[in-house]
Amino acid sequence: MNNTKIVATIGPSSYDKALLKEMFAAGLNVARINFSHSNHQEAKQIFDWVQELNQEEDRNVAVLGDLQGPKLRLGNVEENQKIKKGQEITITTDECIGNSSRVYITYPDFPKDVKVGDSIMLDDGKLILRAESTNERNEVKAKVVQGGELKSKKGVNLPNTKISLPCLTPKDLADLDFSLKIGVEWIGLSFVRNVEDIIELQEIIKKNDSHARVIAKIEKPEAIQQIDEIIMQSDAIMVARGDLGVEVPMERVPNLQKLITRKCIKHSTPVIIATQMMESMMDSLSPSRSDVNDVANAVHDRVDGVMLSGETSVGKYPVGVIKAMNKVVKNVENYADLQMEEYAPIDKNNGRFLSDTICFNACKVAEQVGAKSVMTMTHSGYNAFKISSFRPPSKICIFTSNRTILNTLSLLWGVRGYYYNDFVSTDVTIADITNVIKLKKVVKEGDFVVNIASMPITQKGMTNMMKISRVK
Ligand code: PGA
Ligand code: MN
Repeated sequence: MNNTKIVATIGPSSYDKALLKEMFAAGLNVARINFSHSNHQEAKQIFDWVQELNQEEDRNVAVLGDLQGPKLRLGNVEENQKIKKGQEITITTDECIGNSSRVYITYPDFPKDVKVGDSIMLDDGKLILRAESTNERNEVKAKVVQGGELKSKKGVNLPNTKISLPCLTPKDLADLDFSLKIGVEWIGLSFVRNVEDIIELQEIIKKNDSHARVIAKIEKPEAIQQIDEIIMQSDAIMVARGDLGVEVPMERVPNLQKLITRKCIKHSTPVIIATQMMESMMDSLSPSRSDVNDVANAVHDRVDGVMLSGETSVGKYPVGVIKAMNKVVKNVENYADLQMEEYAPIDKNNGRFLSDTICFNACKVAEQVGAKSVMTMTHSGYNAFKISSFRPPSKICIFTSNRTILNTLSLLWGVRGYYYNDFVSTDVTIADITNVIKLKKVVKEGDFVVNIASMPITQKGMTNMMKISRVK
C-alpha cells in the first residue's frame, strides 16, 4: 500500500464491474462520479459496484460525487465553423444553433454580468474572445483574439467576470440530493468562489442527516483570494488544474499547486492534484516522461491524492493507467526520505487541542523510537485526519466500527483503515488491533508501535492517552 492515494473517474471506458475489480487491484482508492457526464442511474450503479467490491475484495474504496457547479457552456454549433482573429462574433442567451458569427451561451445573465474588455475563453482556452459591447439583455458582441474551430457544447470560462450564478445550480442540488441518498462519502464542488459556497453545501448535507465530506475544487481566481478560509472550512481540497489553468494564466498553476499543497498539509486538510496527470495514457500503454514527472512531483510534495479523469473515464487503458500511476507512486515513495511535518502551533482555543497534541506527539515519539506504526481507534475520523497531516514515517493504522468513515479515510495520505467493533478495555483493544496488523504483516514481532486512545475506552470520549509497546 502506498501513502499517496489514487482517485479515478469512472466513465464509459470503466463502466463495468469486472474492469472496476481490476482497477481496485491496480491500486484505486477513491472512485469518482463526474456529474457533468454521469446520470443518476449510472451513479447508483457505480456506487453499488464499489460497495460490492469492497465486500468481496475486503477493501474500503470511497466514492466521490463531483458536482458540476456553475459551469458555462456553448450551445450546439454547425459543423466546421472557424472563427478568425480580429472578427466579431455575437454571443446570445437566446437558444439557437451556432455558427461563426453567432453562438448560444447557457448563462442567462451573461449580458448583464459581463463588462467591456472581459476575456471570454472557449474550449479550455483554445479560443479567446474579448467583450466589445453588451445590450445588457440578450446579446454580447465580442472580438476574436485567438481563433480556431468553434465546437458544440464546449466550456466557457470568464476569468474577469463576476458571475452571478449560485454555486449550487438546480442540477447540482438534484445531484447532491441523489448522492446523499445513495450514501457517497465525499462531495466535490466545482467553481467554488468563496467560503460561503462551502458553508452552504455543508448545511444542506447536515440537514439531510449525512456526514458526507466536502471537497472544494480550486479553479477560480476568486477562490485563490480566499484560499486560507476555504482550506480551513473544507474537508478536502482539489487543485483542479483543468479549469484553473484557463481561469488564471497556465504558467501560474505549478506554483499555485505547491502553495495550496503546503497550506493544506498545515491545516490538516487533505489535498488532491487533478487533471492531465497521465494524459499521455489516454491512448497509449506507456506514459510520457513528463507525465511520470508530474505524478512524482506531487508525491514528493506529499499530496494526499493524485487524480485521473479522462484517462480512466474515456481513455483506452483505465486499468493500465492506474497500474502505471501506482508504479510511479510506489517507486518515488520508496526512495523519498520521509520526514515529519513541522508542527503548526497548537491552538488552545480549539476544543480538540488535547487530541491534536497527542496525535502530534504520538507521531513524534514514533519517529524517535523508530516505531513501525501509529495506531488508533476513531469514531469521527478526526484523529486520522490529524495524524495523517503530520506525514509520519510510521504506518498509520486506523480502526473504526463505522464503514462510512472507513471508506472516507481512504483518501487520506498514508492511512490504512481497518474495521473493528469490540470495546472491552483499552488494554484488550490495543492487544487486539496490534494483532490485526501483525496478521496483515504491517508489523512483525519485536517492532515498536505507538497507540493513542481515550480511556476508559467504553466511553468513546476524547483522546487522552498514548502507549508505546512492542509487538508480541
Ligand atoms: P472537472 O474538474 O474535471 O470537473 O472540470 C477538474 C478540473 O477542472 O481540473
Ligand atoms: Mn473543472
